Amino acid sequence: ELQDYSCVGCGINIQTEDKEGIGYAPKSALEKDQIICQRCFRLKHYNEIQDVPLNDDDFLKILNGLGNTDSLIVKIVDIFDFNGSWLPGLHRFVGKNNIILVGNKVDLLPKSVKHNKLINWMKQSSKELGLNPVDVYLVSAAKGQGITEIAEAIERHRNGKDVYVVGCTNVGKSTFINRIIKQFSGEDDVITTSHFPGTTLDLIEIPLDNGAALIDTPGIINHHQMAHYVGKQDLKTITPKKEIKPKVFQLNEGQSLFFGGLARFDFVSGGRQSFVCHLSNELTIHRTKLEKADELYENHVGELLSPPRKDELEGFPKLVAHEFMIKEAKTDIVFSGLGWVTVNEPNVKIIAHVPKGVGVVIRKSLI
Ligand code: GDP
Repeated sequence: ELQDYSCVGCGINIQTEDKEGIGYAPKSALEKDQIICQRCFRLKHYNEIQDVPLNDDDFLKILNGLGNTDSLIVKIVDIFDFNGSWLPGLHRFVGKNNIILVGNKVDLLPKSVKHNKLINWMKQSSKELGLNPVDVYLVSAAKGQGITEIAEAIERHRNGKDVYVVGCTNVGKSTFINRIIKQFSGEDDVITTSHFPGTTLDLIEIPLDNGAALIDTPGIINHHQMAHYVGKQDLKTITPKKEIKPKVFQLNEGQSLFFGGLARFDFVSGGRQSFVCHLSNELTIHRTKLEKADELYENHVGELLSPPRKDELEGFPKLVAHEFMIKEAKTDIVFSGLGWVTVNEPNVKIIAHVPKGVGVVIRKSLI
């Protein structure tokens, strides 16, 4: 941190070392009269919000601040990583403010998925996690799907108040905000220097009408996300980019499926039947005998079973087994950050293995 330099946009102290970090500016920028951090630079010149990862303490400070505002809060989650992208403490911090929950990346769902079922699941899960959103929406920030609807909902619920957008890294918050800016302004070039508030360090304000603002809060790194256990290249493999094509596997009792080397699905009992995998099209699925699965993993994780890659194994958590006795027909086993497997029949015993810290839950099937 260079004490003598601060950004004319957001006021943060400039640093020149950590490109991904907050307050970064290239060394050459220090020679200018007015120094602007990279984040504000992109916002100013490209109308692009860049997410800056924060440490947990900073994030807590921001959450604490939210409770003291009179605002509308828009919380974004990744529908492929609902639990992993959840911000666990949020409900304790929001005070009396209303929350709209937005599930992003809906473009990735296969056509067979019923949106209303997903919305109901999101509502129910929110409740279980202690949050009561006033509204739940599905959008694709990347494709622009559902943006008009969410923009209208924001307008309706905010009653002239400020809007805070929160979400952990990688949920698509920046992409979402960029869409919303266009929607509200009707033009691309809404942000000019004159709009720049010299306010708090890590919040970026986008002016709405009547003096209120849409405020982007930095994303927190959620350490439970699968995304943090794989390298950048592998993240591309596990993150679906296109509509997911469900893959059907006929399994006998005592067979297992490996999803790369990231997760494992054991069919313990229930009689021969089919299971439908909803995962990134690029993630390789290996079928094996349950009794051989441990050995296969030990000998081939990082090669045949990859991601993770060989050089990433050291930091990769051990797989932990979670047992599920499935009572009802049509149940999804959700592997946080990867996707889910639909179990069609009732009375099936499954063991799901995921890296320690990564979530796995069951829900009523979305199809
Ligand atoms: P942020 O870290 O929350 O600000 O997320 P970004 O906006 O940088 O997006 C994270 C990743 O998700 C990028 O690779 C985006 O291309 C991708 N992404 C964002 N929105 C969508 C979406 O609606 N659909 C899909 N398929 N990908 C998205």
